[in-house]
Amino acid sequence: MNSETSSAPPVPARCDLIVRGDFVLPMTDGVPEIADGAVAVKAGAIVGVGTRARIEAAWRADDVIAGGIVLPGLVNTHGHAGMTLYRGLGDDMPLMEWLTGFVWPAEKRFTTPENVALGTRLAVAEMLATGTTTFADMYFFEDRVGRVCADAGMRVLLGQAVIGFATPDAPNSGEAIRRGERLVHEWKGHPLVRVSAALHAVYTLTPALMREGAASAAAWGIPIQIHCSETRKEVEDCLREHGVTPPRLMADTGVLREGTILAHGVHLTDDDVRLVLDHGAGVALNPESNLKLGSGIPDIDRLLATGMKLGLGTDGAASNNDLDLWDAVRLAATLPKGLRENPTAVPAAQAVRMATRGGAELLGMESIVGTLEPGKRADLCVIDTEGLSHLPLYHPLSQLAYATRGNDVVHTVVNGRVVYRDRKHTTIDVAALRAEVRALAPQIAAVCRRA
Ligand SMILES: [Zn+2]
Repeated sequence: MNSETSSAPPVPARCDLIVRGDFVLPMTDGVPEIADGAVAVKAGAIVGVGTRARIEAAWRADDVIAGGIVLPGLVNTHGHAGMTLYRGLGDDMPLMEWLTGFVWPAEKRFTTPENVALGTRLAVAEMLATGTTTFADMYFFEDRVGRVCADAGMRVLLGQAVIGFATPDAPNSGEAIRRGERLVHEWKGHPLVRVSAALHAVYTLTPALMREGAASAAAWGIPIQIHCSETRKEVEDCLREHGVTPPRLMADTGVLREGTILAHGVHLTDDDVRLVLDHGAGVALNPESNLKLGSGIPDIDRLLATGMKLGLGTDGAASNNDLDLWDAVRLAATLPKGLRENPTAVPAAQAVRMATRGGAELLGMESIVGTLEPGKRADLCVIDTEGLSHLPLYHPLSQLAYATRGNDVVHTVVNGRVVYRDRKHTTIDVAALRAEVRALAPQIAAVCRRA
């Protein structure tokens, strides 16, 4: 029997969305870039990844989006979304002067549930427009942050801040921990919103409070986020006060454990690195914030060589001052080269991996996002490569690490939903957002001028 004539081509199955790219980068092991590729999406999940010919033979969708490079959505592993309202309020000054003269007076007066929602909406709009599909947050009124993300279709790891003094949303740390517990129940099983315990830092918590926060997180089965060894002063103060480095204090109090997300890790000793590895924790690197605040330069290639879980972050907009994670990708690939005088340190592929798959691993989401493969949720971004800085295009990974900027993103998809299409938001009213932020900004500026 002649199989050519007897087997008619299979009828393509229906899916919801097909995303086409001149290159598709799945970021899975051993799978290189797919030239003229496509991704099929159904019910929020990826159902096919391959060449366009193969995908379109198997799948048909009414909705098709396309662009130059398709890759997993970026994962911003550290930030304070609500702080977009304080972007550029004060720069280029010593940390304490900045905190006491600008950030704290502004936060004291303006960190209300409504303003946190507004600042988060601004942050989410900016992140979606620059290709970020998941972020880790650490701030106040996180119930409002969760609501904004659920409405905008953004994936988030919430982190109700626990600090050893009164905050805008909790008169004491006990209330902050109770707020965290309520969050865990409120968002249980939500497709986009997960919860973590955000213990602020060793210099704002007592060891007893660190123990209490760690025990609560363990009981609730959620990860911990904490600032760690961001500045030399933090490490020196910790040594003087507690006789140990911040990671050692975290290990002693139960904070350092499987899945703990350490933000910064700029000043880690060899012993610290071993501790982090042994406990199954990882580091959210924020090179741009570290540079701007004069905190130092994270040892990215040294940490990478250990196999530690590493993600990239922007930190809050007050210390960056934007939420474009592509800046972090480029710094992660270039800073180590300059520091070591070695152009082979942190190749482009590793930097892009940290911003996608590495970030998903760090946030404990590697089973659902971080790569493009069937079975994972459809979180991806599409880069427009028509711009002159993308011409010619030989190696997409190097293009992403060294030439791509946030505004090259043309579409963003989260959980199968096109939340940013043809450079326009589909879930956020940007004109209204702009008007609200512009109405509030002069009030914030006036308070800071008086401080
Ligand atoms: Zn931070």
